[in-house]
Amino acid sequence: DGELKKEDLEQITELMDGFKASKALFTASELCIFDLLQSRPGLDAAQVAKEIKASVKGTERLLEACVSLGLLKSKDGMHHNPLYENADLAVRFLRSDAPFSLRGYIQHCNSTVWPLFSHLESAVREGTNQRERAFGKKSDDVFQDTYYNSQEVKLRFMKAMHSIAKVTGKAVATAFDLSNFKTACDLGGCTGALAYELTKAHPGLSVTVFDLPAVVEMSEHFYPQQKDNRVSFVAGDFFQDELPKADLYILARVLHDWPDEKVHILLTEIADAAAPGCGLLLNEIFLYEDRRGPRRGLLQALSMSEGKQRSVTDYSLLLKSHGFIATHVQHTDNFLDAMLCVKV
Ligand code: SAM
Repeated sequence: DGELKKEDLEQITELMDGFKASKALFTASELCIFDLLQSRPGLDAAQVAKEIKASVKGTERLLEACVSLGLLKSKDGMHHNPLYENADLAVRFLRSDAPFSLRGYIQHCNSTVWPLFSHLESAVREGTNQRERAFGKKSDDVFQDTYYNSQEVKLRFMKAMHSIAKVTGKAVATAFDLSNFKTACDLGGCTGALAYELTKAHPGLSVTVFDLPAVVEMSEHFYPQQKDNRVSFVAGDFFQDELPKADLYILARVLHDWPDEKVHILLTEIADAAAPGCGLLLNEIFLYEDRRGPRRGLLQALSMSEGKQRSVTDYSLLLKSHGFIATHVQHTDNFLDAMLCVKV
């Protein structure tokens, strides 16, 4: 009917303004405002503007918006001039040196995901992601053709993966009892963030991180002084090369990047390497069986082309066709869900 309800207006406003909030967060992060206010809390807008080499007017607007978003707090200084500091959320997730810093992922969202989403109409019309429109480059394999072509883009992508893996690592590593396994191989294990969480949680486990040579050559960058000899790195292509032998194979945020045909190639490789009784740990966002959520997973799918999001049933069927039977499923409260399978 003709009545306007407050909740409806709030809900529709939040959806219409969501992109503004995201971009304000990305911009404040890019301009290092959360790092600055972490080391020097209580600056006013003019002082922040000077430090980040930006206009006072623009900085003031951004700081005020960040307060309204719950990212910063302000208190009155002299003549009611507001002084700014990080809110709890910024302390926990937005400063660069926080243990659960999401700065790497935010930079990836700003530099890669945002441009792709700005071409969403074309993506929907054409059924492909818009890398060519957004970045002027066509790519069949996003890793080898786009991310790993330049050192700078590669490092940014790795930092993005690293930051999410640090936040999800413990929940994923402790989702199931893995005490039966002595050796694990984390396929597409990137910086080793999950591998280190796994060895921390399971004292008897050694983990080999298997990833493309371009990634493995950077592993020192992320854990320079690490002396944990239970984590090692092997370079290779999981669609072509023989995989390291292990009791437990891990696929964390790997399968959603690929269509079923590619998943079958990879699972064939794993099934060849895995003896009966071996485990396979899968970490992804699991879609609800009716595909009505979670929203995060469905929104992420909008910028995919070759890849897709799948439900527990979808993944179980793919895995079963290669002899891996799902024995446990866990929807964690963290970003990723988990499934443990055993090879028959
Ligand atoms: N597992 C990590 C995590 O959860 O944070 C990284 C996930 S990232 C979305 C996918 C990973 O698969 C990247 O590290 C990428 O380099 C790796 N990868 C892509 N193609 C590969 C290939 N053909 N062989 C080995 N690794 C590959």
